[in-house]
Amino acid sequence: MTKVLYPGSFDPITKGHMNVIEQASELFDEVVVAVMKNEAKRNPFFTIEERMKLIEEIYEGKTNIKVVTGEGATVDIASLYECKAMVRGLRGVTDFDEEIQLASINKKISNERINTICLFADEPYKYISSSMVKGIFKLGKDIKDYVDPTIKEAMEEKQKVYQKRR
Ligand code: ADP
Repeated sequence: MTKVLYPGSFDPITKGHMNVIEQASELFDEVVVAVMKNEAKRNPFFTIEERMKLIEEIYEGKTNIKVVTGEGATVDIASLYECKAMVRGLRGVTDFDEEIQLASINKKISNERINTICLFADEPYKYISSSMVKGIFKLGKDIKDYVDPTIKEAMEEKQKVYQKRR
């Protein structure tokens, strides 16, 4: 059984991420989506637990897509869940530059065991990013083309909570 890890922030999961997950789930037996704790990314919209719950909701009933969380080196999380490789999605040259470095570091620190496989999202989802979704949402514009309805609803609910606090 070949398992792969798909690590990221997923704040929130977008249709771009979903397209990558679906492609990976057709290529491998199991996709482990890892919602990584990343202190560098400030002001998150959703907590790690909320992000995990939302992804689980979207893939409810899909037995080959699992959601976990982790912190530290992604290669250690990959080993922990017996994943042979990590999947990353590429949007453009900027992603490529970053991913090529990460892939080589990760291979090295995993004692040459963990490879990185890059996939491209299909055309309509190619350039979507979580930060773009949050930006459009904050402008009060419709995000339905970029995220699953579960996410759109959850963002609207969370926005109400934020507004009450103000
Ligand atoms: P972001 O970079 O949007 O904050 P993440 O850190 O959650 O997102 O990304 C996890 C992985 O998914 C990264 O490899 C990222 O490049 C990839 N990814 C995100 N959006 C897309 C997309 N629209 N098409 C292809 N890959 C994507």
